[in-house]
Amino acid sequence: MKRDFEGKVALVTGAGGGIGEAIAHDLAANGAKVLVVDVQGEMAEIVAGAICEQGGVAQAYQADVSLPASCEAMVKMAEEAFGALHYAVNNAGISGAFGPLQDASVEDWRRVMGINLDGVFYGMKYQLEAIGRVGGGAIVNIASIYAHLGLNRLDAYTASKHAVLGLTRSVAIEYAARGIRVNAVSPGPILTPLTRAHAGATDSIAAMTAIKRMGEPVEIAKAVSFLLSPDASFIVGSEIVVDGGVMLS
Ligand code: NAD
Repeated sequence: MKRDFEGKVALVTGAGGGIGEAIAHDLAANGAKVLVVDVQGEMAEIVAGAICEQGGVAQAYQADVSLPASCEAMVKMAEEAFGALHYAVNNAGISGAFGPLQDASVEDWRRVMGINLDGVFYGMKYQLEAIGRVGGGAIVNIASIYAHLGLNRLDAYTASKHAVLGLTRSVAIEYAARGIRVNAVSPGPILTPLTRAHAGATDSIAAMTAIKRMGEPVEIAKAVSFLLSPDASFIVGSEIVVDGGVMLS
């Protein structure tokens, strides 16, 4: 196995389950020491424990990415626990409530934006500083195919993911010359607690793909690890769409 991240430190938000859990496992399997961050602390503990059982190095940390102080603290924890921060994956996200815009609550709008968009801003604000201290590294933000498409009755989510992609691109320009590459991965339908809870009909979602199945979290993790790795050394402000071909038609 390639050990691209040997001696390096990574932080993954929303890593207590779903896609983030798979990303944390893949980075650890490739040699990174991983801070497993989730608002659900017990889930982060379980994931970090599983990584350690498999011979990796990981520590759990409970943090809510919608709070700037939490994001500052998680970055500090990575540096305290492992001595540095080289890589970060801003993955934590929620879908929010389905429904027509006129019925959407201001609270739901703020909650979705607070986690999906503000959380990426707060995260990068402190991650960039820490990664700069070690002379460079990389960040991947998790967007969505709905950074490109409209999603009927999920307006806040769609708006937040469009914004994450724009934020990724502008920050990428600012930091590329300082040795920090910032990119995005945009998943299509992936089987996780998030899609199981809201979809109801995974078969009809699978039918939207060209490949006629939903994706697995590990298929997102592999794209993230590639973008963080030295193999992606000339990739800046880009996006890998991992969607089984949904956006082709
Ligand atoms: P999930 O619900 O399975 O997992 C998300 C994790 O984030 C959970 O462990 C949750 O506790 C954590 N989390 C939620 N709010 C948080 C907060 N405020 N602070 C820290 N952690 C928090 O979701 P998933 O399907 O694995 O999605 C992960 C990311 O991928 C999200 O950004 C999502 O929008 C994106 N995405 C998912 C799909 C999909 O089909 N699953 C498709 C496109 C994009």
